[in-house]
Amino acid sequence: MDRFHPEGTPIAVLTTQPLDRALDYRAPAGGVADGAFVEVPLGPRLVAGVVWGTAAGDWPVEKLRGVARVLDVPPMGAAMRDFLERAAAYTLTPLAAMLRLALRTPGLGEAPGKRVLYGLGTGEPDRATEARGKVMAVLEERPDDLFGASELAELTGVSAGVVKGLLPSGAVRRVTEARDGDFPALDPARPGKPLAPDQAQAADILRAAVAGGGYGTTLLKGVTGSGKTEVYLEAVAECLAHGRQALVLLPEIALTAEFLTRVEARFGARPAEWHSGVTQAERRRAWKKLASGQARLVVGARSALFLPFRDLGLVIVDEEHDTSYKQEDGVLYSARDMAVLRAACEGAQVVLASATPSLESWANVEMGKYARLDLTSRFGTATMPELRAVDMRDAELPGGRWISPTLRGAMEDRLAKGEQSLVFLNRRGYAPVTLCRACGQQVACHQCDARMVEHRFQKRLMCHQCGETAPMPVACPACKVEGKMAAVGPGVERMAEEVTALFPEARVAVLSSDLFGSARALKARVEEIAAGGADIVVGTQLVAKGHNFPQLTLVGVIDADLGLQGSDLRAAERTFQLMRQVSGRAGRAEKPGVALLQTYQPEHPVIRAILSGDEEAFWAEEAAQRRAAGVPPYGRMAGIVISDPDARTAFALGEALARRTDALALIGAEVFGPAPAPIARIRGRHRVRLLVKAPRQAPIQPALAEWVGSVEVPRSSRLSVDIDPQSF
Ligand code: ADP
Ligand code: ZN
Repeated sequence: MDRFHPEGTPIAVLTTQPLDRALDYRAPAGGVADGAFVEVPLGPRLVAGVVWGTAAGDWPVEKLRGVARVLDVPPMGAAMRDFLERAAAYTLTPLAAMLRLALRTPGLGEAPGKRVLYGLGTGEPDRATEARGKVMAVLEERPDDLFGASELAELTGVSAGVVKGLLPSGAVRRVTEARDGDFPALDPARPGKPLAPDQAQAADILRAAVAGGGYGTTLLKGVTGSGKTEVYLEAVAECLAHGRQALVLLPEIALTAEFLTRVEARFGARPAEWHSGVTQAERRRAWKKLASGQARLVVGARSALFLPFRDLGLVIVDEEHDTSYKQEDGVLYSARDMAVLRAACEGAQVVLASATPSLESWANVEMGKYARLDLTSRFGTATMPELRAVDMRDAELPGGRWISPTLRGAMEDRLAKGEQSLVFLNRRGYAPVTLCRACGQQVACHQCDARMVEHRFQKRLMCHQCGETAPMPVACPACKVEGKMAAVGPGVERMAEEVTALFPEARVAVLSSDLFGSARALKARVEEIAAGGADIVVGTQLVAKGHNFPQLTLVGVIDADLGLQGSDLRAAERTFQLMRQVSGRAGRAEKPGVALLQTYQPEHPVIRAILSGDEEAFWAEEAAQRRAAGVPPYGRMAGIVISDPDARTAFALGEALARRTDALALIGAEVFGPAPAPIARIRGRHRVRLLVKAPRQAPIQPALAEWVGSVEVPRSSRLSVDIDPQSF
């Protein structure tokens, strides 16, 4: 329960500053309640914070500094505070760092009033200087958006003066708006599409769960195109009809546009949107309107989990298996798991939707923690694609060629019929390796343990670890011989080259994240392709996610074995999911689809499982292996990564940890390492990893905290704990 603290009484305030606890202050005039957003003095500055109960220390109240200001925004509810505390404890993250995730929205303390915004004008574009050109480029890319002057200046790297200088010519327009207008009301009573029997049954069960209130998680499993979205939109309708709020998480910003259109068709208005591509003004508005309860539905990326819902009733995690739900920077968390935690704190339902659920979710169903609903066939007349292996051991391809005669023949056939083909290779760039044919030297990133990858369209080399780019060398960096640098192996750009050589008359589209500056540009291209604007699509995993190409009837996977290499225990699961997802792009409309998987190991159990589509058997086999190894989801794991500019320092700290494992031994945990981390060097920092494996029920967090706290971390080193690491 929220307590009220009368004026002058001691209170605790949690700030976003990197301190390990809340600080004590004196309640302001008029008093203040738990959860109130405040500004407090810290040293010479004022910082934002949240009232977090009664003061913990026993300082005389006169010695405490007073709260400077109570912000005029709805207080943070008890459920949200509980969520942040539990999330911090689970991920072993300082509570202040968790609070930062919830307080990233700029300008919360500002009064409503008016604001001045800038957008694309109707006048002639003005590119008289480089600076003006940059502003025009951003505005032309996002013609419907309005930006604050400073935000636009930040996005374009020019001064706010340049933006204002574009006003007289009409190239830029200026709008004065009331801040934080209401979101249009969504109408849950509008009828949805008439549902097929299995859809209707699933929708009824979800509606009943939402209507019943309280927490629960359901895995909604259904093949791609089975109509899961239509089903969970029914659950959203039920939630809205009860006056509660709903959150839909999507794994990829590029998917939001299509989803917003579907929501608008269903509920008659657009919901709030939340991801890195949304303007600051819009984010501030969404934050405030969700906190007040006016906005009812938000569609967003994983960070939307930290929004201040007033009465959250439902969370949907679409494509729940997607690896992009794991936040790998800063606070390390799985958005899927955090969604479940948030819902548990709020008394909300969760729907995890996927055609290829994560092993974690399968296991949670098996253990009775999650309910499960199945949609087993595609909606309407669409059928599942036929999957076939192409044995590359007899393909006899000339060097530098990767498309087998079988795949080529199938593509010819599609071209003749006016249907689309997709050539899939999950590798960005032109070629994975660039080497010197004179001395054999490969071009590597100078600050990472990674090769430089040629990106021929952009005419440069790029490190996929740190993003560093370099011009393509003419002479070998090692032996200095000129003209001998060669590309080895295929990347998606090189596949496009091969496709163009084989089918010079075809319209070829390449879909790879490097080739699109923004989600908007990608969306435009995807729409063009969906409308028939390309004959052959060549793409990376970007195309495996949710996009709908009705004319696409053939998927050719260049290297189905790619993900099976390496020692990662999740390799089989990942490959199975990716191959099933990408195959599912074929034949989504009336015309039946085929997926051809090029492989050198057609007898490999994973390849066979992919082809047969027998998920239950695949999962049982995977589960048996993980259970035998005692790894997630049947055991607990944590990764400790230590990085330091000096490899020896990092190793020494790792070894110091490995020597004192008493706290872990007590809970039955084992420690492996230290060993070089999967990426042994990034941006000049050497990385060493220890893996901790514990029984499923072991209280791993307190033991880890004690263990990690038992060593002195040198100033130059960084130590991070990753609970449930993605690779092990
Ligand atoms: P999933 O999310 O399982 O991949 P979708 O919900 O996107 O499937 O449905 C696939 C396609 O079938 C979409 O174009 C969708 O509009 C259509 N569809 C699904 N259910 C229905 C329905 N009951 N009536 C009409 N169209 C439907
Ligand atoms: Zn690098």
